[in-house]
Amino acid sequence: MRTPWTDLETNIFLTRRPVSQMRELERDSPPDTPARKRLAIVGRGRVGYALTQALRNTGYDVDGPLGRGADGLGADAVLLCVPDAEIASAAAHIPPGPIVGHCSGATGLGVIAPHEAFSLHPLMTVTAEGADFAGAGAAIAGSTPRALACAAQLADALGMRPVEIPEEERPAYHAAASVASNFLITLEAAAERIGATVGLERDQLVPLVRATVENWARLGPERALTGPVARGDEATVARQRQAIADAAPELLALFDALVTATGALAAPPGGECGMNVIHTVAGLRATLLEPRRAGRSIGLVPTMGAFHDGHLSLMRRARQECDVVVVSLFVNPAQFNDPADLDKYPRDPERDEALAADIGVDLLFAPAAEEVYPPGFATAVSVAGITETLEGAHRGRAHFDGVTTVVTKLFNMVGPDVAYFGQKDAQQALVIRRLARDLDLPVRIEVCPTVREPDGLALSSRNALLSPDDRARATALHRALAAVQRGIGAGERDPAALREHALAELDAAAISPDYVEFVSSETLEPVRRIDRDFLVVLAAHVGGTRLIDNQLIHLSRNHDREVATPSRAPTIASRR
Ligand code: AMP
Repeated sequence: MRTPWTDLETNIFLTRRPVSQMRELERDSPPDTPARKRLAIVGRGRVGYALTQALRNTGYDVDGPLGRGADGLGADAVLLCVPDAEIASAAAHIPPGPIVGHCSGATGLGVIAPHEAFSLHPLMTVTAEGADFAGAGAAIAGSTPRALACAAQLADALGMRPVEIPEEERPAYHAAASVASNFLITLEAAAERIGATVGLERDQLVPLVRATVENWARLGPERALTGPVARGDEATVARQRQAIADAAPELLALFDALVTATGALAAPPGGECGMNVIHTVAGLRATLLEPRRAGRSIGLVPTMGAFHDGHLSLMRRARQECDVVVVSLFVNPAQFNDPADLDKYPRDPERDEALAADIGVDLLFAPAAEEVYPPGFATAVSVAGITETLEGAHRGRAHFDGVTTVVTKLFNMVGPDVAYFGQKDAQQALVIRRLARDLDLPVRIEVCPTVREPDGLALSSRNALLSPDDRARATALHRALAAVQRGIGAGERDPAALREHALAELDAAAISPDYVEFVSSETLEPVRRIDRDFLVVLAAHVGGTRLIDNQLIHLSRNHDREVATPSRAPTIASRR
């Protein structure tokens, strides 16, 4: 608990009234009035001169400002107005007796020991022209109630509004002061620098700055905030950013950090939706800077949107395992081999946003295509071998190049500790693992079980494109996979015979597959002899929609552990 210094009776200074009043008092004082106490101020810098002058004006008997080696002889209290690094040595020059104080905001009282110590830090900027302390805040501290009272009385005399700041809270107090004062100058210097590139002068900015500070003081930050970030006008912010990139690129990081902080002020977390939706790489990086510095783990779930329970299962897993969950939502044109497929790919950003927020995702990163692939983009990341079979063979080389390039970019943008992918896209998951391993990307890849409808159909954004009839036929994909597992259970080990079981199920639904293959679950090499667990993978068009599915086939019994159904993951039907 803080000392109620205002209640302290202890008053080491007698003469703390204006000189005129003081003389009146002295004239009328009874003969036993204690002798007048004296304050010495050591340090001939701006603060020393300003405090000497201001305290003299209020009637204090001030000796000073004295040079740094002064011993304060004859003073009842000595106030050191010297640089922080010199407080200890200045205090050492003072013989035991007086209370000794300093004016530092950042320094504790220990440096003054063994003196009875106080500190008084005026929350006011002091220039060579002096300072007006009246009305300003002041941090005070005292090693004894008497020393604390001394600091309080000096602050009081200057018309300041003192607050006692204990030693452990001084860095935070001092940081607040630096942001309020020093950094404001840095910001105005930046405004001047940018303004100068279009012929704007400081004088023309000053009225705006004054009015802004006045509004903040009167209305508080939320109500005083105006401008494009507060309005959510991202196009304007993007144009401003480009202008800074061209004219004053050294200010870009500052601009980005301010956009993020201003955005948080405009829509503080814990409101209607605590999730941050970010559209720019710069905004993303700025938002993740602090959590990363604080050592918080970051999980990334890359998606193309149109969320279903499969996506949500990845997000939930990330939520359980990571401090910060980032979901990317980007329909990556580079991985679509068919422009018509890209055009009709389901999109529902508002619903996606609401679903991700419900899960507790921290950050939804939804960049525009130009943000990911700016003009002149000319680089690709390509994984050989494992990408050339199955989906790679049917969709063409560009498909996986598109996936690996965008995933590498996402990893670089987000810098996740863990990234979550679905077993539903088994080949993609293996490709990403290979990518991360081959390029030494510092990210752990987690592959999560396929989530299915109760009738076995693997959830997919593309399922929304199926007609009711095709939706019913599509269950044959899962039946084909189950037929292979059933055949294994019945002791069948001939790959050709097992494949026939699968094809029969597809045929019964009039589905002719692109492929049905038995492959190694690690290398995707075709399996010729069935003597260990393997992956059965298939792809087929159902109506106009291409679907893929797969299942790990176990030669032993315990075979449904990698399958998740919506019964294990809460359904999202209510969002429609
Ligand atoms: P997409 O939006 O289709 O690119 O999918 C994003 C992520 O969700 C990928 O890692 C997919 O493998 C994963 N995913 C898609 N469908 C499912 C599903 N039914 N179960 C689990 N994960 C899935």
